[in-house]
Amino acid sequence: MRCYDCYREGIETSAVAVCIECHAGACPRHLHPESEPVRRSTSTGRVWSARESRRMYCSVCHASLQQEDPADPGGM
Ligand SMILES: [Zn+2]
Ligand SMILES: [Zn+2]
Repeated sequence: MRCYDCYREGIETSAVAVCIECHAGACPRHLHPESEPVRRSTSTGRVWSARESRRMYCSVCHASLQQEDPADPGGM
């Protein structure tokens, strides 16, 4: 699979991951991995796992995610 963003730039680059949103291939340069801590409670008590789950986004979807992020202070 080739990186879709590189393809739009007229370059052919092997993709290392697939965007979970649009399923486009992304090379390391266009890949935006988001790691979210996974909190998991067990039956033995409140043991929280610090394991991280990975979410791979292409540059386009990552940019749109940033726009949807309401963490912008003083927006209104
Ligand atoms: Zn690329
Ligand atoms: Zn995408």
